[in-house]
Amino acid sequence: APDAFDAIVLGAGAAGMMCAATAGARGLRVLLIDHAPEPGRKILISGGGRCNFTNLHTAPDRYLSANAHFAKSALRRYTPHDFLALVERYGIAWHEKTLGQLFCDGSARQIVAMLSEECTAASVTMLLGSPVSAIDHADGLYRVTVDGRTWSAPSMVLATGGPSIPKLGATGFAYDVARQFGLSVVQPRPALVPLTLGAEDALFQSLSGVSAQVEVSCNKTSFREAALFTHRGLSGPAMLQISSYWQHRTAIAVNFLPDVEAEWLLNQKRLQPRTTLRRALTSALPVRLAEVLTDRMAEEARSLGAELGNVSDKSLRAAQAHLTAWTFTPNGTEGFAKAEVTAGGVATRDLSSQTMMATRVPGLYVIGEAVDVTGWLGGYNFQWAWASGWAAGQALTKA
Ligand code: FAD
Repeated sequence: APDAFDAIVLGAGAAGMMCAATAGARGLRVLLIDHAPEPGRKILISGGGRCNFTNLHTAPDRYLSANAHFAKSALRRYTPHDFLALVERYGIAWHEKTLGQLFCDGSARQIVAMLSEECTAASVTMLLGSPVSAIDHADGLYRVTVDGRTWSAPSMVLATGGPSIPKLGATGFAYDVARQFGLSVVQPRPALVPLTLGAEDALFQSLSGVSAQVEVSCNKTSFREAALFTHRGLSGPAMLQISSYWQHRTAIAVNFLPDVEAEWLLNQKRLQPRTTLRRALTSALPVRLAEVLTDRMAEEARSLGAELGNVSDKSLRAAQAHLTAWTFTPNGTEGFAKAEVTAGGVATRDLSSQTMMATRVPGLYVIGEAVDVTGWLGGYNFQWAWASGWAAGQALTKA
């Protein structure tokens, strides 16, 4: 039948295109459906338009999931080097920016063009620009209705991502379909998202735009990267990373002096007794940040406004302890509107880690961000999309 395929992939994003191209290259007839008019919109805006397409340090411990082992198999079978080999085959120039993060020299558009071309070469049929109006499953076939026309296949892959950045067409569709088929969903929440601060931290608003190299910790996890103060709270790579581990009403600890020795302030007192805490700090921190932090500490311990020679060792030790474990209790996050990814999602306990197929629903697969696997900032989320898409693409079978 003309409307019959071997597999229907829902969502022409990172994972869906990888899966469709992989299965198509193995000779399967694949239909790739997306409600957006063009594929890979999130890829286009990723990495500031240059797409941080993988990370050389990919390892299972850089992912959050209710099952820490789930991502291992797929990540091992499709590695950053596999994706890099594809990028190089297309002659796309790239560079390592920092911390193993690989970016295009040119534009994220090259990655979308590459994946589209892979789909075309694998004879994948793309159906773009219309919403899915119904899905049902009977007699071993999935039937997907789009624009009043119904398509069928013995396998269906959910690759519609998570609800972060709804203005790009992101939805919780994958969760609805997963629930329709009896799969559980781990409560989705915004991740890699700026944290907001309440009134008690209002003084930090005056630092909007200031950034500093910090070490931030929460729930036994820490990141040493740049933090950025915003008019609403805290952002920058360090804060986006920690947001994935943060839970409501808990505190995060910020070390503003990650690179100084243990008795640094006491040593400063000996070396330059006539200097003030504020001035000493400006050698390690942006001036405005040094001012705000000293003012805040001096509210509680007046002596900290004096020259270091006149401040007791005890007070200086306490000040350094404060500066190396400054706690903030964010009152929330900027939500799905600003979240780079969604944590949580379709429960891994209902999926095979080898194939991404639902263990109790033959022929139903879930890949990419829709799954409860969430990577750190830095190319890890795309690597999961490629690896899980590849695993499903290898596992799909002909009708
Ligand atoms: P997506 O790429 O989101 O694809 C899902 C597709 O499904 C979309 O095309 C969407 O239109 C479609 N869809 C959704 N709902 C429906 C529906 N109801 N019907 C039909 N189709 C539907 N990760 C990195 O690793 N490196 C980066 O540099 C990076 N930068 C990012 C920058 C921003 C601003 C954002 C928001 C995210 C960034 N990410 C980055 C995260 C990365 O984009 C995602 O993790 C990745 O795209 C997930 O792939 P996916 O295929 O699962 O989902």
